[in-house]
Amino acid sequence: MITLRTVADVRAAVSQARRAGASIGLVPTMGAFHDGHLSLMRRAREQCDRVVVSLFVNPTQFNEQADLDHYPRDERRDAALAAEAGVDFLFAPPVGQVYPPGFATTVSVAGVSESLEGAHRGRGHFDGVATVVTKLFNIVSPDVAYFGQKDAQQVTVIRQLVRDLDMPVRIEVCPIVREPDGLALSSRNVRLSGTERARATALHRALVAVQESVVAGEQDATAVKATAIAALTSAGIEPEYFELVSADTLAPVRRIDGEVLALVAARVGATRLIDNAIIIRRP
Ligand code: AMP
Repeated sequence: MITLRTVADVRAAVSQARRAGASIGLVPTMGAFHDGHLSLMRRAREQCDRVVVSLFVNPTQFNEQADLDHYPRDERRDAALAAEAGVDFLFAPPVGQVYPPGFATTVSVAGVSESLEGAHRGRGHFDGVATVVTKLFNIVSPDVAYFGQKDAQQVTVIRQLVRDLDMPVRIEVCPIVREPDGLALSSRNVRLSGTERARATALHRALVAVQESVVAGEQDATAVKATAIAALTSAGIEPEYFELVSADTLAPVRRIDGEVLALVAARVGATRLIDNAIIIRRP
């Protein structure tokens, strides 16, 4: 695996591969790799001739300075894991490569960026994501880009971005990788204390409770949400939000029919966690 630091070096490596007829897969990440990230890299390895992983803790998508300051960083460990997963190129640029002096452009996806995470973290979060993903797509020109269902709203925002700006890339979404007790893997989980780690499993329990209540025949979103909130409060967790929405538009649903996306965000101690599940009601 080759580590690249500059836009020019990535362009040179990718265009050489392209001239040889190779397809290119891109996995955008902020590092601190766990099995969730590795599942994306492995999928890319299966499907593409060359796999590029970007490792960039994007400052513009952080709404809290402390979250950015304490974000786990260990490039050497990440590089070893990426190499083991069969990655060809690790693009790990300094901030100045991505945002040189005078940088002045923001890509902003209206509508789907505004609710849920957008409402709680601020509009700037998805503006930061859309801007850096646009740049990465322009730098790498991947045939396929890999994202995790863990960040479900991010997937919706990126799909809209790609559609609206006619970006010639296929978006591939990989399922959420979880710990055996259900907790979704996240780079932020290392910040949880022992007792917080145990309480954090309530997020997944709440999503399972929702699925069970829908399977049992409940179709009223308010009633289903109450089941989820009960599972969270029994673990001492007050969610920032728990919503049932359409997966395409993120519009709230009042009645559960067909496929619905259930999303939760909550602080466990000082650590903010998100999780989600696709809830299916079979007729
Ligand atoms: P991040 O480094 O947190 O920006 O994540 C990079 C990519 O990995 C994003 O597309 C995430 O959705 C994805 N990802 C993070 N955690 C998981 C997980 N537990 N399962 C699957 N994908 C994940």
